[in-house]
Amino acid sequence: MKKLFRIFLLLWIITLTVGCVTTNPNPNKPKTEAEVLAEVNKNLEAVDELTIDVSFVPETDDPIDFLRILTVNDFHGALAETDQAAGAARMGKYLIDQRNLNPNETIVLSAGDMFQGTGISNYRRGLDVIKWMNAVKFDAMTIGNHEFDWGISEILKYRDGDLSNGEADFPLLGANIVQKANGQILPNTEPYTIINKGHLKVGIVGYIGYGLESDIAVGMVKDYKFESIPTTIGPIIEDLRKNQQVDIIIALGHDGSETTNSMLAGLTGYQAVDAIVNGHYHLNNSDYITSVDNREIPIVQAGSSGEYVGDITLNINPITKKITGVSSTVKMGSSRPKHDSIDNYINALIHATAPLFSRVIGVAGTTITKYPTVTWAADALKAHTNADVAFINSGGIRGDAFPIAKGTEVTVGHLYKIMPFDNTVKTVTLTGTQIRVILNFSLSSSSNLVAKGSSVTIDGVPLVDTRTYRVASIDYVFDQKQYPFLDGTNIEADGLLFRDVLIKAIEKMTQQNQEWIP
Ligand SMILES: [Zn+2]
Repeated sequence: MKKLFRIFLLLWIITLTVGCVTTNPNPNKPKTEAEVLAEVNKNLEAVDELTIDVSFVPETDDPIDFLRILTVNDFHGALAETDQAAGAARMGKYLIDQRNLNPNETIVLSAGDMFQGTGISNYRRGLDVIKWMNAVKFDAMTIGNHEFDWGISEILKYRDGDLSNGEADFPLLGANIVQKANGQILPNTEPYTIINKGHLKVGIVGYIGYGLESDIAVGMVKDYKFESIPTTIGPIIEDLRKNQQVDIIIALGHDGSETTNSMLAGLTGYQAVDAIVNGHYHLNNSDYITSVDNREIPIVQAGSSGEYVGDITLNINPITKKITGVSSTVKMGSSRPKHDSIDNYINALIHATAPLFSRVIGVAGTTITKYPTVTWAADALKAHTNADVAFINSGGIRGDAFPIAKGTEVTVGHLYKIMPFDNTVKTVTLTGTQIRVILNFSLSSSSNLVAKGSSVTIDGVPLVDTRTYRVASIDYVFDQKQYPFLDGTNIEADGLLFRDVLIKAIEKMTQQNQEWIP
């Protein structure tokens, strides 16, 4: 019997060993991209849902004499902790704890640009930021320009009532974002939302900055138009105050221009605004603006990437109902405690996507900073496309991805930080004259183009106005009508991501045993 058992055990071990060999025939063979993606998707399916029991019980009889507005803007997918970002676990805990102090009097708002900007957020098109915002119980979010980066439908699906593709528990606002085809606002969005706090009715009107279409790839925004802000939201506020008995109005804008804020300060009577929440400019700024009827309207903008939380407190005089406010921003920082459940969730996401983002593609041969990287990136684009010259916008190479210390193992994740946008490569044939037109703008070029006053050389040879040149760029720049790219001939666009060009350029250096020095 004992012998039989031993034979059985031996057979079992052999089966196990053979099993291992068949599932991993060659452990040294690098996985294909498709294999890595399949692995990441399988890992993500196994990540437990983020559920936090945050049940705020409003006491309906509680007399509300103040309202606290906590705000986040331009989060840009900063779920994980980095040198700059405090991470969603810290910010989440802060927001939950602060709301718990006065659940009846607190609301949490987002002023847009929440999803686009890091590998782990971009991978599922912001779904994990939505899950975090649900867990933390955001009350509303306004749509920012970067919400258009993947096509706005990718974000609007989070409010389509279909739970299978992810769903925001809070409204998406965009009072002045209209569809050119029918003049209606975007589907699944609302111009405003009303939140009841005790006996108080708080109206939140969401809008995007006037003219911000120019900060969106043309192909993604061509069907939409951003209407003038005061003429759009003024009548909405009037309706809220006059017909819906709203007591307090918060202007929630993916906007921070002084022009807009002054125009909001010009709204009076039934159209008056009580607080302004800003975004887009990544400023850490708390201030107030005096309205034309002499009220001090608090304004806040809370940096970017989860570095700050904005905080406005409005005090409501119980007799006169007069509202006075103060604003501030609170730095999150690495010393704040993390929320355990959120931390576990983010770590699970990092772990699940590690085969993709933690893949090392090279080593930093120097301390890498932004501006050399901009020129290097344009050179890499030129080389990849065999163009004569390449143009990119320096803003696409993100300053907050730097510095990268000498000796750092550079990963795909680093490249997502450097170039978070899914911009694609485009090439075109232009004349020397058209290239001169491009030089009037502040685009960055590949280093082989040298312009000193009217003297322009490409590879040391003077630019010939009548000659044609092959020119490479990225869709975000290429499709803007102010540049002459679209007037050229033989336009080629195969959908290749600019980020992938940069990844391949670093990998090529590594294969040649070189460190990456931009
Ligand atoms: Zn923005």
